[in-house]
Amino acid sequence: MARIKLNSMDKIKIFKGLFMGLRNVYGTYDSKTGKVRQVKEPVTDEVIHAHLTGKQSYGVYLLTGSKTKALAVDFDEDDLSFPIDFVVHAKEHKLSAYIERSKSKGYHVWIFFEPRGVTASKTRLVVQKILADMGKTGTEIFPKQDTLDNGITYGNFINAPLFGSLVKKGKTVFVDPDDPVKVYPNQWELLQNIQRVPESVLDAIIEKCNLNNQTQPARGVNHNSSYHSDDDISHFGLPPCARKMLAEGVSSYQRVSCFRLAVHLKRNGLPFDLTLTILKAWAKKNHPADNKRIITENEIEYQTKCAFENTYRSFGCEDPAINAYCDKNCQLYAYTIGKRST
Ligand code: SF4
Repeated sequence: MARIKLNSMDKIKIFKGLFMGLRNVYGTYDSKTGKVRQVKEPVTDEVIHAHLTGKQSYGVYLLTGSKTKALAVDFDEDDLSFPIDFVVHAKEHKLSAYIERSKSKGYHVWIFFEPRGVTASKTRLVVQKILADMGKTGTEIFPKQDTLDNGITYGNFINAPLFGSLVKKGKTVFVDPDDPVKVYPNQWELLQNIQRVPESVLDAIIEKCNLNNQTQPARGVNHNSSYHSDDDISHFGLPPCARKMLAEGVSSYQRVSCFRLAVHLKRNGLPFDLTLTILKAWAKKNHPADNKRIITENEIEYQTKCAFENTYRSFGCEDPAINAYCDKNCQLYAYTIGKRST
């Protein structure tokens, strides 16, 4: 793609098109003390310019009446697997979502909607559904309310991306959608090509998932459903053993564990590059016994290639590397390990 040089007015225009909510108020913080405050003044081009150049941060109040042009999910842990998991789930619903490294810890995942805004309650309903499917129901969503009424004048602000002084440190920047461990090299190119979601897509998800007529499912095992239910296998569609291994790392059988996790991730539709990214992050959590070393990146790549080049689909329940992390509540248990032990 030919690179068009943007001047600061072009950048302000692009930025306002994506990160503009209420126009008469914004949030900011003191970069020395971290103290946040509300500024009841118009959001002018100067305010945006000060943000982009790192002079004063700008936090956007996304909710305008009952509409919003964007939504952000705040993952406050430094574990990239959660925002990636969210993006994968969102994609299944035809929603484009973009991961931003936040200013201090964790990630924001942004979804942008049609320029005139969409009904905020619909955006929140759909995102709550995705978070419930991931087992992350407590995660903060901005806007935090469906509408400004009942005494709510402004709602809550979220710090906007691309705060000048932090951009140089690789913070408040969007990651590469194809390789989320890396920062996207041209932030403005990414912002210019954002895929916005029309309200009709939200309506279709709400209807398909029957979201208007059900309360959000609580996290947990649904003992009445078939063993492939989404409730049971949620984080990347993974069973409990694999979720535990990914969250905690392993202390032995690192290569076998890596291979098995790659098979799980592949079976659930993750592409090779994302699987590799997740497994490299996973390896850092490993705590090998007997002073053994952590699996290397080359070994991870080799195991991942093996998993992707063949048609393995087994859950590997019989493998000691896996069944050490088995959970009896898994609905596969009755068909696999439970069957053998009766
Ligand atoms: S039965 Fe146990 S080992 Fe098999 S998939 Fe479920 S949690 Fe994993």
